[in-house]
Amino acid sequence: MSQLAESKGIILSSRNYKEKDKLVKIFTESAGKMMFYVKGIHRQNQPIAPALLPFTEAIYIGHFHNEGLSFVNSVKDVHSFRKIQEDIFLSGYGTYLLNLVDAAIEDRQYDPNLFQFTHQALQRMDQGDDPEIITNIFEIQLLQRFGISPVWTHCAVCGKTQGKFDYSSKYGGVLCENHWELDHHRYHADPRAVHFVRLFSAISYDRISGIDLKEETKQKIRQLIDLLYEEYVGIHLKSKKFIDQMKSWEHIMKPTNEATKENPAEE
Ligand SMILES: [Zn+2]
Repeated sequence: MSQLAESKGIILSSRNYKEKDKLVKIFTESAGKMMFYVKGIHRQNQPIAPALLPFTEAIYIGHFHNEGLSFVNSVKDVHSFRKIQEDIFLSGYGTYLLNLVDAAIEDRQYDPNLFQFTHQALQRMDQGDDPEIITNIFEIQLLQRFGISPVWTHCAVCGKTQGKFDYSSKYGGVLCENHWELDHHRYHADPRAVHFVRLFSAISYDRISGIDLKEETKQKIRQLIDLLYEEYVGIHLKSKKFIDQMKSWEHIMKPTNEATKENPAEE
């Protein structure tokens, strides 16, 4: 069945096909993610072209098919996340988020909440909020789409909500310090990292502007989320590898405030 339709959408990926065409995967708000075939995109003055670039959202109008490829004929209300497009670091985090979305849902799976969540994550990143915190929140809240919902709110044994916690696979959630002994194979994660992951599991993106994390805390959070993804999700995305490697060279390209303040002459 084919029907002329329109929907808000976010570009998940885009690649050239044959000489002048493109295959574009779009996460649409009204019909889930779908692969679109776009003809003659390289013609000059093709008005659709900017709407097919990575980190773009728009209203896409065309024929949405229940199977096989769909087609985009025109677009309106094109919005580019320009800062993400132009910054190699932000592009790295943004690509990883979009790859996660792609991995988490089946084609044509209607999921307006995830659509909105993805839109907010990109918007926040584009507005200059910390891309690592945005990514961590995304990863933690996306776990549900991969079929698991760890208990973060309280100790899985006694229900305690305050204090130090660790994560236990055996109990499918966090354990308070009093109950750590019940699982010797618990993650032995940094309690501060667990604290922030608990916070991230329930926070909405409009409340993140006050969060400022030290590099060391960020690393511990990264380790904890990596363990969770290794255990429960088990996908290995190139874009994830890229952001991990980026950590080792980002300071060379982007001197921190402290580094720029240092005066080599005083050494
Ligand atoms: Zn407990």
